[in-house]
Amino acid sequence: MSEALLKIFTAKKIITMNPAFPFATAVAVQGERIVGVGTTEDLAQWGDHEIDDQFKDHILLPGFVEAHTHVMAGGVWEFPYVGFYDRVDPRGQTWSGCRDIDSVVERLVECEGSLEDPEQPLTAWGLDPIFLEGERLVAKHLDRVSQTRPIFVFHASGHLATVNSEMMRRSGIDRHTPTPGVAKDAEGEPNGELQEPPAMLLAQDGLSAIGVAIMSSNAKWNYAREARNCGVTTITDLGTTRLAMEGQLEAWRDATDDPSYPARVVVAVGHFDVGGNPKESNEMALLAVRLRDEEETAKLRFGIVKLVLDGSIQGFTARVSWPHYVDPPAGHPGNGLWLIPPEQMADIVSSYHDAGLTVHCHCNGDEAAQVFIDAVETALEKHPRWDHRHTVQHCQLTTAAQYKKMAALGMNANIFSNHIFHWGDQHASVTVGEERAARMDACATAEREGVRFSVHSDAPITPMGHLHTAWCAVNRLTASGRVLGPEERISVSKALEACTVDAAHQLKLDHDIGSLESGKLADFAVLESDPYEVNPEELKDIAVWGTVLGGVPHPAGSE
Ligand SMILES: [Zn+2]
Repeated sequence: MSEALLKIFTAKKIITMNPAFPFATAVAVQGERIVGVGTTEDLAQWGDHEIDDQFKDHILLPGFVEAHTHVMAGGVWEFPYVGFYDRVDPRGQTWSGCRDIDSVVERLVECEGSLEDPEQPLTAWGLDPIFLEGERLVAKHLDRVSQTRPIFVFHASGHLATVNSEMMRRSGIDRHTPTPGVAKDAEGEPNGELQEPPAMLLAQDGLSAIGVAIMSSNAKWNYAREARNCGVTTITDLGTTRLAMEGQLEAWRDATDDPSYPARVVVAVGHFDVGGNPKESNEMALLAVRLRDEEETAKLRFGIVKLVLDGSIQGFTARVSWPHYVDPPAGHPGNGLWLIPPEQMADIVSSYHDAGLTVHCHCNGDEAAQVFIDAVETALEKHPRWDHRHTVQHCQLTTAAQYKKMAALGMNANIFSNHIFHWGDQHASVTVGEERAARMDACATAEREGVRFSVHSDAPITPMGHLHTAWCAVNRLTASGRVLGPEERISVSKALEACTVDAAHQLKLDHDIGSLESGKLADFAVLESDPYEVNPEELKDIAVWGTVLGGVPHPAGSE
């Protein structure tokens, strides 16, 4: 062999996730790819090399593959956090959770005081009213922060926002506003809660501040730093970037072309980039095909289109089958909102399917999952296509019957296992009830029915970190410490597959990433302890040294 020098990394143990060669103690790398795995003695057959033993006490896995996050994970930290759980920002600073309405108001008052321009809207994020005892947090509570400055507080789910009266006044939101999702009280007055994008878009000043932050270069870098800090080497920005907008592709290229940018990124085209009718989806399909065929690099990939069909379960906007919700807030219509009219789904899915793209559709509720599955079946009947890998995203209430159908149609699942910890208690008591909560995020059912699946954080909805998502799928422990739906627990090895090879398969990148074997990219997660050796309840506590991306080490916490 000639070319670049061969480097052999040694490790305490290498978990390859290649079932034909599962464990090793050395991996030989040339340039950005793996020459082979084995022992240093085996690998000496490749000739001149240098040994790098900086990981001799560490465990190497394939770099984790996160198939559902949003670049806004790197942008939201420009705004104050008012969520329920403590949260660590990309600089490592911990923001304590706001556990009641008063502490949300207190934090906002503090931030309001630091804004110099009296006209500047106050934007915050992470609000989670389902956890706050007593009445629901609405506009009148935010009016205690300011009655002259508009305030926009984005919820943790990313599907709702709560605004103050001044924001409603400036946005023209009143009792006559017909937009679905403008929540109204018993007297018919809007209460400040804006559910889903059409309603949130009415409060342009608030939503656009978040939009601007998402598009910044800083957001792209912080997003990749958060990934690196938890061992993720490939992240998926699932439909957040408005790729049809001028400069957006170039901004991603600028970031990822920088050799020190510490992640690979799959950027999915968002169907909502333009709008909802089939003619426009044809245009979006052309864009997605062009990006995939002409603009890909080793660190920037395309080929996926993201649809969003329903809302959020804890926000009561997901489409949940009968008997719907247990205890929705006052004035709730009984079921959630359709973000795409179901009768348009077959045409929309067909336009992307016919173009050879992979469709990933957000379906939190089972009613939404059924509409998407039926749309994929229709698309396949008209235009048979093998190995499409169309994926139900979130899959929170997907039933066994739906998983059977997905298996028959060749579909994949990406399961929101983190929900079990973050909202599992509320799902059992308030949203869908004990029985359905026990089969939420049903990884074991997906496995039994033969559907290939990954698990995800949906960062910034929950913090990125595949050891945590795997821990949720393995233990199903809620925040209160109960095991929710023990029959849906999966093994540690299955959970690790979901975070590596099967996530790579879902992104159609399993020829390149997802396992450590000859020919693949040298992307590693570098861990301080062995996920197979620790108590499964401690999986989430394994410390992460950082990553190796294309053969180059990237320690966690560095700039
Ligand atoms: Zn998402």
